[in-house]
Amino acid sequence: MKYQQILNTIQSDLATTPYAGKVATYIPELAKISPKKLGMHLYCINSGHYSFGDNDERFSIQSISKVFGLTLAMSLLNDELFKRVDVEPSGNAFNSLIQLEYENGIPRNPFINAGALVISDVLISTLKNPKKSFLEFIHDITGNTSIAINQEVFNSEKECSFRNAALLNLMKSFGNIKNEIEEVLDFYIYQCAIEMSCKELATAFMIYANGGKKLSNGQQIISSQKTKRINAVMQTCGFYDEAGEFSFRVGLPGKSGVGGGIAAIHPEQYAVTVWSPPLNPKGNSELGMYALERLTTLTGFSIF
Ligand code: GLU
Repeated sequence: MKYQQILNTIQSDLATTPYAGKVATYIPELAKISPKKLGMHLYCINSGHYSFGDNDERFSIQSISKVFGLTLAMSLLNDELFKRVDVEPSGNAFNSLIQLEYENGIPRNPFINAGALVISDVLISTLKNPKKSFLEFIHDITGNTSIAINQEVFNSEKECSFRNAALLNLMKSFGNIKNEIEEVLDFYIYQCAIEMSCKELATAFMIYANGGKKLSNGQQIISSQKTKRINAVMQTCGFYDEAGEFSFRVGLPGKSGVGGGIAAIHPEQYAVTVWSPPLNPKGNSELGMYALERLTTLTGFSIF
């Protein structure tokens, strides 16, 4: 089957799949999104773009931004970075404080909130204008300068980020946050509030499928060795305390966000993105996971 045929099959499968998931409400602005939104986009290295549904509509990328943060930090720093954040699956919720207490304030990995907050702290210490650089990085890898944050989502999360503030305070007590807590929180929330469509995210994630290079012009954004490492962290830590389940069912490196997006890649083959806001109890898009499971089943190949 060709990719567009496969995507059409997935679209009709999803149309008849009842879901029990719930749109995230802990960030009040996200609760306003229709649970019916559904889009998918596959960008193949050899044969281009395939899609269905709301694949051109922008949504809040939330934790998918953690992959871009790690990429930027790894492009600026050497292995020193991994003294401040580990690369082990956490097996705990995305916003958990538990492990920090007995692991001396070193987060388990860069894709849970604690780890992404440390990466934000590192970027603030390294970059002159981290917000501008972060957005420019996304503009560069997508070739699209209109990508921006949603100010309402930003304001909404700012008003309720008590847990992320708690994570920062705890890590600062161990000396693992160097900048002011308010500044790190502000920059972290900014990244999460960026909006992108499935198509734009699949274009951005193409660098991880293509050995760190932009497909459009061959520009090396991040070395192939570092790309391998980022993909490995996506595989083992990209889905909060459901990373094992995602590997088991889908078999691709990827990253989810509480906005209902999932971006995944098949190295040297494609980048793929799904958006469906209702989340399962672990905080991952319920239909998104199902769509990607169908993709690797129908194509007959995953990375395993
Ligand atoms: N901004 C969200 C938070 O910190 C991101 C969570 C996510 O997408 O996993 O709670």
